[in-house]
Amino acid sequence: MIPFLDLKNLNAQYRDELINACTRVIDSGWYIQGNECNSFENEFAQYCGTEYAVGVANGLDALTLIIRAYKEMGIMNDGDEIIVPANTYIASILAISANNLKPVLVEAGINDYLIDPEKIEEAITLKTKAIMPVHLYGQTSNMEKINEIAKKYDLKVIEDSAQAHGAYYGDKKAGNLGDASGFSFYPGKNLGALGDGGAVTTNDKQLAETIMALGNYGSQKKYENLYKGVNSRLDEIQAAMLRVKLNFLDKEIENRRKIAAYYLQNIKNENIVLPVVRNIDNHVWHLFVIRTKNRNQLQKYLEENGVQTLIHYPIPPHKQNAYNEFGNNSYPITEKIHSEVLSLPISGVQSLEDTQKIVDLLLEYRG
Ligand SMILES: *Cc1c(COP(=O)(O)O)cnc(C)c1O
Repeated sequence: MIPFLDLKNLNAQYRDELINACTRVIDSGWYIQGNECNSFENEFAQYCGTEYAVGVANGLDALTLIIRAYKEMGIMNDGDEIIVPANTYIASILAISANNLKPVLVEAGINDYLIDPEKIEEAITLKTKAIMPVHLYGQTSNMEKINEIAKKYDLKVIEDSAQAHGAYYGDKKAGNLGDASGFSFYPGKNLGALGDGGAVTTNDKQLAETIMALGNYGSQKKYENLYKGVNSRLDEIQAAMLRVKLNFLDKEIENRRKIAAYYLQNIKNENIVLPVVRNIDNHVWHLFVIRTKNRNQLQKYLEENGVQTLIHYPIPPHKQNAYNEFGNNSYPITEKIHSEVLSLPISGVQSLEDTQKIVDLLLEYRG
């Protein structure tokens, strides 16, 4: 079976270095908020090109704490609105509602599956405080247009970069394209820890300091609490794992790009719609997502021929029980995307041989 993502083999490449890093943490006797987290924050900020990176417990917390910090800073309030793509993983939207703000969903484009910048302005009200573009599948959103709208209406831009470590827009990277950005280091992400992890990147010192305090019980100075904070920290072991893996991120992205290029060039089947890409070298190919009318049939065909695929995602957030308040809203493009998408295997370790086998199967497929 060709796995969708072979995490075991992926991390096995770095086994010795990961073990050394782990040993270093064990022997340091310091397991929370020490040298590893500090160093990773510096290295990740440098990688993204931002002034600051703040380690937190996971990607959802990264996004949630950005909004929470803006509330503490007096920039956002309960009941304010944040514009977010309807076509996203639900965590983007959860971060908004967790703060008692209202997510306002905007349709995706049928070609790039990202928030449609042409539909943002009509969703802006007097309560709108931010736009949250999601760089879904590893391709950055149309930031020129989004930043232009944000400037015109004095809105914050909060990137959800959970799928886009290392992706470019122009000469800047995801994480450095708005006012603040949330990253996830969930094991399956392009930069994955061996457990949960996340980070916020920003060039705003006050925001970085507020998030640092909020994630540490609201405290900047031990036993003095400025805010009613939470416990959301990137622990030393995971930071040490991430420091090892950050060194190989660009190499892994390169392999993903080779596979994506091969798929794009060779999958020629009238039943299969390939992703439309602005620039293949800006995209980090967290997922290679095709569309087809009879998605379940194609998934079954591949499964029977030894290829594992996944669906990102089968049910759009506005159709989830958790968000029944959106029940009457209709986002036909998002719904079409969710009903037709299928993610092909892609990873930093996938071989060209396996990729060819998948393509051959797709060429033979009669939908
Ligand atoms: C994974 C993901 C998140 C959440 O990250 P976690 O670390 O799993 O909490 C948020 N947004 C998007 C788009 C994601 O893919």
